[in-house]
Amino acid sequence: MAIAAKVSQCLEQSSWIRKMFEQGAQLRARLGEDRVFDFTIGNPAVEPPAAFHEALRQLANQPEPGMHRYMSNAGYDETRAAVADFLNQRSVRPLSAEQVVMTCGAGGALNVVLKTLLNPGDEVIILAPYFVEYKFYIDNHGGVPRVVNCLADSFLPDLTAIEQAIGPNTKAIILNSPNNPTGVIYPQTSLDALEALLQRKGEELNRTLYVISDEPYARLAYDGTEVPCVFNSIRNAILVTSHSKDLALPGERIGYLAANPAMEEVDQFIAGAVFCNRVLGFVNAPALMQRLVAGLQHESVDIAAYQEKRDLLYNELTALGFSMVKPQGGFYLFPRSPLADDVAFVEQAQQHNILLVPGKGFGAPGYFRIAYCIDRAVIERSLPAWRDLAAELGC
Ligand code: PLP
Repeated sequence: MAIAAKVSQCLEQSSWIRKMFEQGAQLRARLGEDRVFDFTIGNPAVEPPAAFHEALRQLANQPEPGMHRYMSNAGYDETRAAVADFLNQRSVRPLSAEQVVMTCGAGGALNVVLKTLLNPGDEVIILAPYFVEYKFYIDNHGGVPRVVNCLADSFLPDLTAIEQAIGPNTKAIILNSPNNPTGVIYPQTSLDALEALLQRKGEELNRTLYVISDEPYARLAYDGTEVPCVFNSIRNAILVTSHSKDLALPGERIGYLAANPAMEEVDQFIAGAVFCNRVLGFVNAPALMQRLVAGLQHESVDIAAYQEKRDLLYNELTALGFSMVKPQGGFYLFPRSPLADDVAFVEQAQQHNILLVPGKGFGAPGYFRIAYCIDRAVIERSLPAWRDLAAELGC
């Protein structure tokens, strides 16, 4: 076998999202684009804001010598400073450029943070339902994922279950708010309560317990909800994010990590992260994108348009009898599956050309995920198919 046994095993477990996406491509080829309603993948159909294209044109028209060369592995100072200024709108403890490292997306940042923190066998708590790549990322760096279920009625962190999962090998917990796949935003009270728990357990175990706050959807918040800044609640916190969703640039691989300035040994952590950014082979985040996003920190895609899509689907589907938590952010819905077997439900939906991902793929069987980052016209065209599906199931 050409590939490592572990990689072969991972291929077999292959992501449900990719699997459904590929089936969708086949269905589209067979039936035509207009007849397939693909809610499988979180790849925004919207374009980046006009200011991005304007900045790109300006840069292309006035190329500066050296703009494509290597730079400090942490990224350009002016980009790091612009990110710190942006975060300081929410953080009560002011950050400076020194606490920011530019990365290849949030995925790159997560790998950098995990490599920086983990010793072999260290456990990282992840909350189900979870972003499917977390398990692989943790394993990449010799860590062991420890799955803890969220509260079933709200999808908020279950502190009692987290407390039970913390042990002598626990190093960190990954939070994701707004959440993929539930869209739930964790309120500050949840973060404060988690901090009290982590401080208490940390003292008991004589270990520092870190929070890795994965926030690529932080700008996509609705109904006037603010995503609380993790630094205002949690001392040993590292924020990880990207412009994949808020500027609709997932293919450009631009993101960053930022450490709470109040974190223990923060300078040592950042030095480690800069080294890991280098030796993971990223070297640095893409130069062109760093120059562009430095001036675009206050820009975003049309968030109101996402809220309208959420409202349209949420209202239609709940009226049809589907039950779900109304999400305040992100671009996903995570309804309960009307069939006990979520894979069977997703297969039945496929008969109506509606493509979904089973909750099983996120460690939460009995649910399914809808990614509504697609054209509104597709959502509207899908509604009769949803009605047929609901009628068939007697929802
Ligand atoms: N974290 C979560 C929760 C995500 O949903 C995604 C992408 O969908 C990522 C991280 C990775 O984002 P990026 O494209 O910036 O690497």
